[in-house]
Amino acid sequence: MQSLRRALADARNHLEAGGIDDAGLEAEVLLRHALDVSRPVLYIHLDDTLSTDAASRFETYIERRLAREPAAYITGHREFYNLDLAVTPATLIPRPDTETLVDVAIELAKGLQSEMREMLTIADIGTGSGAIAIALATALPRARIIATDSSPEALQVAEANARHHGVVDSIEFRLGDLLQPLTEPVDLIVANLPYVATDDYLALEPEVRDYEPRSALDGGPDGLDVIRRLLAMAPQRLSEHGAIALEFGAGQTVPLETLASKLFPAARTRIHTDLAGRPRVISIRLT
Ligand code: GLN
Repeated sequence: MQSLRRALADARNHLEAGGIDDAGLEAEVLLRHALDVSRPVLYIHLDDTLSTDAASRFETYIERRLAREPAAYITGHREFYNLDLAVTPATLIPRPDTETLVDVAIELAKGLQSEMREMLTIADIGTGSGAIAIALATALPRARIIATDSSPEALQVAEANARHHGVVDSIEFRLGDLLQPLTEPVDLIVANLPYVATDDYLALEPEVRDYEPRSALDGGPDGLDVIRRLLAMAPQRLSEHGAIALEFGAGQTVPLETLASKLFPAARTRIHTDLAGRPRVISIRLT
């Protein structure tokens, strides 16, 4: 019989020896999951004995983590924009980088809302776990949101997350490729599409490459295949005063600006940096 403190220390050493970063934090997250307790409760009970059942669950989680499965898939949860979201291997695990995209989208939406009399319609394309759509629905209660994905499994996760956060009535979930499910013009298109170049994708850490959906990450030879397809479809689907906000990766600023100025010569285009100071989001405003 072991105390929680001892089990935690052993697991941390085990993960560290297995080359897992942030071993202490990861061990704690997995122990909390095995016990189904919050952080403060865990810390109050560190000298209690770990039950046999919890010990065997914890051991399984540590083995899975050592096999490089991301902790978010083991616990089934990830925090994003202050929201606790369910995630499954059908969905990308939301990244902190994408909070920048949400901030940019909220700013664009507020600007558009102040100019419009009708309700604002926003489309989150490739919604995955629903992270962006749900964050926007929470911040913009007067907007109507359409969330699309080409994966029915992802849409189910997104819808369950929206229900959990009380915004399921503000979001319509539609299955299909990129903008194809949009039958009406929308005012704002927001998307975190796959943008990793295939060679970079193949060199990603095993947590990402071997567990997260490739269709959410691999953007073809230069990473921009899917973004190019979306931008080519956008002129037909955007309302007259519409705007687009897209997340992108390293080295893509110039090709994206070039593409945007070709497709939307009269638009105002801006690049926004993430919390680490890297160019991360492009916004394109038609007016
Ligand atoms: N930033 C993500 C990465 O880790 C990429 C997400 C995407 O392609 N949309 O690797």
